[in-house]
This record gives sequence, structure tokens and C-alpha cells, in this order.
Amino acid sequence: MVFFSANSMFAAGEKNKISNYKIEFFREKEGSANVLHVRCEFDINLNQNDTDTVELKFGGQLGEDSVPDSNLTISSYPAVDYTYDYEQKKLTFRMKGEKHAHITMEYDFLSFSSAFIYREICEIWETSFSEYYYPFIFGEKALFDVTVTAPDNYYIVGSYPFSLEQHAGGMKTYHYKTTNPVVSHACIFAILPDSRYRRITTDNDQTINDIYLIDSIDVPAARMKELADMTTASVDFFSKHLSPYSNEYLGIENKITYIFHTNGFSNRNNVNFISVSQDKFAQKPHILPLVHEIGHRWFGEWTLLIGDGEFGAYFIKESLNEYLSFLFAKNYYGQDFFDGLIDSCQSAYGKIKGSDKDRSLYDMKYNNNNTIVYNKGSLIINEAVKKMGEEQWLLFMKDFYSKYAGKPDLKYENFIELLKQADETSAILLDDLIKGKINI
Ligand SMILES: [Zn+2]
Repeated sequence: MVFFSANSMFAAGEKNKISNYKIEFFREKEGSANVLHVRCEFDINLNQNDTDTVELKFGGQLGEDSVPDSNLTISSYPAVDYTYDYEQKKLTFRMKGEKHAHITMEYDFLSFSSAFIYREICEIWETSFSEYYYPFIFGEKALFDVTVTAPDNYYIVGSYPFSLEQHAGGMKTYHYKTTNPVVSHACIFAILPDSRYRRITTDNDQTINDIYLIDSIDVPAARMKELADMTTASVDFFSKHLSPYSNEYLGIENKITYIFHTNGFSNRNNVNFISVSQDKFAQKPHILPLVHEIGHRWFGEWTLLIGDGEFGAYFIKESLNEYLSFLFAKNYYGQDFFDGLIDSCQSAYGKIKGSDKDRSLYDMKYNNNNTIVYNKGSLIINEAVKKMGEEQWLLFMKDFYSKYAGKPDLKYENFIELLKQADETSAILLDDLIKGKINI
């Protein structure tokens, strides 16, 4: 049986702690929206010096019936102990001296985020907002073998490219298997009712795969052209300054799929697909926020593995990326546009400057203060960039990305130490601004 076979990829070195991860997500034809039946299996492998305990993050919103509890069954071979801490959303296995165990779990999961954020127009199963609908170890990588089964009248889109595996009885099953171990929180998918969505396939586009548009919201043709042009231009910009877009080790293919939704605030990069608010996309004067999402291919939660709760986590995962999107804008729209972005950051930050909402970037352990993370963050990076020069900053971004992308346990200190090696004076200035020792 495949789950017990040795994984040749890791034969030479240490094994991934969680390997051969197989998950089946099943969406009922009838029944409550945003509920999945989940069955998953994985191997736990302890290396020589590991402790006897393995802790996985697991669960949704407390108090909203979305954390699996009474409907959860867990079995293991050989038998190891486990505890499930509902409040902490933690699943802990005690290996009792065993080096390997095969775990099987089954449960129903209600996605509170999906139900709340996307309000019935679609279900996007994202691991954001601490909704961990399958258990994983943050920062670790695993090979995934995923199937999603849903009624015929839904489109199914995954963070990695799905293929149709089975089609029977009004249900269809899509499948993917990652060819390399990928970050374990990156198993994401969307289920879109075809009654509400129109799928546009863009065979001739160099950078866009499919676009899922909501039928009831009009988007001007010029905006669609702008999307195609800007996607190509920003992928080119980031590829030139950081690394090529595609990367088989990250499971990143060479084209982006866009999925639109009706919520006004939630744009997200979900590895190979980007979810975006269609109202905003149709109406806003520019679509730079999409460049920010494209930038997350390089700078963000899929590559910079600094955990929520760490000092400076959202400076690393968000502010750096936001400023890179500004540098793209300078290149693409010109200096005046860039100056306008800096002005608007100043005016947004000015509204909270000196108030109790005015916190240091270093304190941004969670993404819970947009003005600080995006506006103040961009302003202070801009101060350092004025000192060290744009070209030097981009070279440093490339160094930082090359050195730390995909490495677990990233800390803010790793970032600032590397910057000190590149330009000590600018690093000290930026560090003081980030920690709030000096103000802008
Ligand atoms: Zn972001």
C-alpha cells in the first residue's frame, strides 16, 4: 500500500515529519453550504533527534461550530496517543517510542470564513484567518495527494493544477498530486457554482490561465485588457528583479488563474490562483492591489515562513511586498503615480499618527492593523530606500528572497542582519523605524 512505502525523494536526507499526505474533500449535493466531509491520511516520521511529540495546527473559528469536535475520528497504526485541544486548535501525537506512524482522520468541517467572507456566491477554502481545515505543521513541507468531490454544477479550482478524475452520478472528482513537497498550509481550493460564474479561458495569454467572473457584475472591456497587460508587466518586473515566476519546487506553474468574489476587502494569493473582489476590480481607478497579490508569489506566506505571533511577521509578509508593488508602479505608471501612492500612505497614516492605533511595525505579529502594515510600512521602507538607493534595495530583496524563501523558522532578525551586511547605516535606520525608536 502506497502510504507505507519509503519515499525515495527523502532517501538521502531527513524525512519530512509529515509525509505522504492524502486528503479527500467531499462536498454534499444537498445539505449545508460551506460544509465539507474530510478524510485524510498521513505518515508521521520522527528523525533521530526529534522529541517524542508532534504537534499539528488544526481547527476553525471557536464558538461557531466550525471546529471539528464530536464528529472527529482519529486512528493510527501502530497505536500512538493523541490529544486534541479544542480551545488551542492543536492536535498532538505522542509517539510512545515509535519512529513512524500512519494516521487516518475523518470529520466534517464548516468553513466559517468561507460562509462569512464570500457570502454564498462561492466557497474558497483558504487557510487564512486560522481556519485550518486539515491538520499541518506550519513551516514544514509535505507531498500532497488531494481529491475534491463536488456536484456537477460547480467549478473546482485548486492552488495546484487539478485534473478531472471521475465523473458519475451528478458528482465530479478532481485530483492533484504535488510532484515536490510544498509548504503544508498551501492546500487550497475553490468551489464555484456555474449558475453564478462565467469561465473565460485565455489560451493566448502568456501569464493568465482562466478567469472566473461573476455574471451579475459588469466589468468594462478596457479593464479586462488592463488586467492582462498589467499581469504580464508585473510578472516580468518581479521575475527580472527576484526570480522566474515558475518554480517546480514551490509547485508554481507558469500561469495565474483569477477568481472573483463579491466581498469588498478580501484579495488573496492562493499559490496558482488569486481571489479578488469583482466590484472593486470593475470600479476602482487602478488595479494595483492585484500587483500586490502577484507579488505574494515571491514575498508572502507561501515562501517567507515566519509564523503568526512572531515579532515583525507582517512587516516581512506584507509591508515588503506592498512596497515592491509601489516600485512596480513607479516603473509602469511613472514617478507621479508613485509619489501619489506615498502621499496617500502619508494621509492614511496621518489619521492615526500618535494615537493608540499607532503601533510599531515590529509589533505587527498578526495582520490586524492595515494602516500600520501597509501605509506606515511603505513609508518607513521608503525612508530606507531613499538612503540606500532603489537599485541596491532591489538587489537586497533578491538576496533576502534567495536566502530565506521556503526555509522554516524565519525571524525578523534574519532580515535585518542580512540588510546590515548589505548597507549597515540604512539597516540601522530601518530597524529603528520598524521598532518605533524613531518616528517618521
Ligand atoms: Zn498581502
